[in-house]
Amino acid sequence: MCPACGEPVGQCVCRQRQAAAVPPGDGVVRVSRETKGRKGKGVTLITGVPVDEDALHDLATQLKRRCGAGGTVKDRVIEIQGDHRDLLAEELTRQGFTVKRVGG
Ligand SMILES: [Zn+2]
Repeated sequence: MCPACGEPVGQCVCRQRQAAAVPPGDGVVRVSRETKGRKGKGVTLITGVPVDEDALHDLATQLKRRCGAGGTVKDRVIEIQGDHRDLLAEELTRQGFTVKRVGG
């Protein structure tokens, strides 16, 4: 039995689940800013990161530390408080992602 999904090893669904966890997209990470309904400088949004949920949370933790700001992951979107678009675009590029800044 597979310890992760409980199915016989031959019918293990973990790989499929993992593939499903990474949503289809163009692989481009988009860094934008949202100020509507937010206080102060708003938040920086990072969308389209082509990794699974666990890796996304790890990445969010790293990025929050890098910015010295709070943040969260919601619906596969990383939100970092404040405007850190330059720093985040640079950091994500350094990590090997293809990054596009969108909006002002
Ligand atoms: Zn499995």
